Amino acid sequence: MSEVKVAVLGGSGAGKSALAVRFLTRRFIGEYASGAECIYTKHLCLDGRQIHLEIYDPCSQPQQGKLSLADELHWADAFIIVYDISDRASFAFAKALLYRIRESHIGVCKKMVESSIFLVGNKQDLCHMREVGWDEGQKLAIDNKCQFCELSAAEHYQEVVAMFTKVLRNITANAKVKEKRRPSGSKSMAKLINNVFGKRRKSV
Ligand code: GDP
Ligand code: MG
Repeated sequence: MSEVKVAVLGGSGAGKSALAVRFLTRRFIGEYASGAECIYTKHLCLDGRQIHLEIYDPCSQPQQGKLSLADELHWADAFIIVYDISDRASFAFAKALLYRIRESHIGVCKKMVESSIFLVGNKQDLCHMREVGWDEGQKLAIDNKCQFCELSAAEHYQEVVAMFTKVLRNITANAKVKEKRRPSGSKSMAKLINNVFGKRRKSV
C-alpha cells in the first residue's frame, strides 16, 4: 500500500475544490464550501497497486492569498497548481506559487521535482472569456519543467481523471526509484532462490 499526498493549490475561485471533488465523486456541484481547508482521503487501485490518497484542498478566503507554503511543502508528495483561464490574476498567482515551490525544492532530486508539479488551466469551457492563452500556460510549464494541461472541472470528467492519474503514476514511479536504491530483502531472497536452483532468471 502506497501513501500519496497531493496538494491542490491556486488562487481563490480557480476551481481547486471543484477539481478535487470532481475526481473523488465524479460530480460537479457548482458551489463549494470555501471557509475551511480540508483533506479528502480515498483508497484506489492503480496499475495493480493499492494507493491511499490524501488530497489537500486549502481554504479559499482572500487572506489565504499569502504564500506561506511551509506546511504544504513539507507535507505534499505532489502539487497541482490551478488557475482559471478566464482570470489573468489567477495565472499570476499560479506563477508565483510555482516559483515558490521550485525554489524550495532546489537540491532535491531533479527528476522528482519535474514530475511532482502539474500546472492546470481550469474552466476551459469559458474559453469565450479567455484571458490566458494556452501557449502562455504551456510556456510557463516548460520554463519550470512541470507538466501542463487545460481542462474544465465542470465539463471534462475524463480529463480530470487523466490528470490525477498522471500525478499518481509519477509519484509511484518515483517511489519505485527510491525503493530500487535501497537494498531490498525480497531481492536477496530471489538471489538466494536462484543460487539454490542454479538458474538465472531473465528479467522481463
Ligand atoms: P476554489 O476557491 O479554487 O476552491 O474554487 P471553487 O472550486 O470553489 O470554484 C469557484 C467557482 O468556479 C465555483 O462557482 C465553481 O462552480 C466554478 N468553477 C469551478 N470549475 C469550473 C469550471 O471548470 N468551469 C466553470 N464554468 N466554472 C467552474
Ligand atoms: Mg475551495
